[in-house]
Amino acid sequence: MPINVLFAAHVDRWETYRAPLTDAFAALDLDVQLATDFRPEDVDYIVYAPNSPLQDFAPYTRAKAVLNLWAGVEAVVNNPTLKIPLARMVDPGMTKSMTEWVVGHVMRYHLGLDRYIVNPDHAWAPRTPPLAAQRTVCILGMGALGSAVAEVLLTLGFKVRGWSRREKSIPGVAMHHGEDGLELALSQAEILILLLPDTPATENILDAAAIAHLPKGAFVINPGRGPLIDDQALIDALNTGQIAQATLDVFRTEPLPADHPFWAHPGVTVTPHVAADTRPHTASQVIAENIRRGEIGEPFLHLVDRTSGY
Ligand code: NAP
Repeated sequence: MPINVLFAAHVDRWETYRAPLTDAFAALDLDVQLATDFRPEDVDYIVYAPNSPLQDFAPYTRAKAVLNLWAGVEAVVNNPTLKIPLARMVDPGMTKSMTEWVVGHVMRYHLGLDRYIVNPDHAWAPRTPPLAAQRTVCILGMGALGSAVAEVLLTLGFKVRGWSRREKSIPGVAMHHGEDGLELALSQAEILILLLPDTPATENILDAAAIAHLPKGAFVINPGRGPLIDDQALIDALNTGQIAQATLDVFRTEPLPADHPFWAHPGVTVTPHVAADTRPHTASQVIAENIRRGEIGEPFLHLVDRTSGY
């Protein structure tokens, strides 16, 4: 009997994913019927994006797992009708995309590129930047994405600090963890990168108190989630020079409202949630592998821990 896989994402994603998913199932010899519509009681797996119209999982009585297309799960993890395993997306294509985006913005700040790109007076004012080995970058959130970013920054020669919830060791990275480790992690963060999930424990993690621990003139890069930052505290810190500049990819409300002060602030670069989209070809292989595992009773990859919310 074929495995029924329901594709429940925004309608415009179906044509993007149909062929890559079909190819990935075939590559693993999975006999799959893939569709955007089944009788709920006939569905075996749900390939899901939280902006799908599907919000009530209760009728999907036979389904073995919800396989999220996004890395972030904050919009589905607390759904009370979801009783089956939830896997988040860890996609090699998305990871590369995030690494490239973050490293680009780190290099902009590290090299001080803005003074030459925006130079209306044509000032000949050379300034030698430090080498990467003289610059400390700190990453809050050392999971799939944070640790991949750290690896590339280390290759470039940066001093890298990381912060995670649980104690862990990553070669070459000065690691900190837990509430006690945050102050130390921030205290040397000349460039700070936020790659934490949005959970009750991480909301406003970069508030006025945390910002005060940063070295004066630090740069902030947030491709994690909007609620990680206290928006007003960031604006205040930009105004005093405690934070020199910030690049923000994610916001509490998206699209960022036209009257939000981030748009107008000269120290803020807004990018429209483009750091790392899921890449259909590689993500489909991850989905297919999880279905293969589900069918032979092996543990799913990238399961979300519902109590910690990520
Ligand atoms: P992940 O593998 O789950 O890693 C999350 C990291 O955050 C882990 O190191 C975890 O610590 C740490 N963490 C979680 N709660 C914490 C807490 N309370 N205190 C300290 N550390 C904590 O997630 P990921 O795949 O790297 O993705 C991270 C986030 O990036 C996603 O949740 C999503 O919001 C965002 N994202 C954004 C885009 C974009 O385009 N802008 C694209 C993809 C993802 P442990 O290691 O101890 O578990």
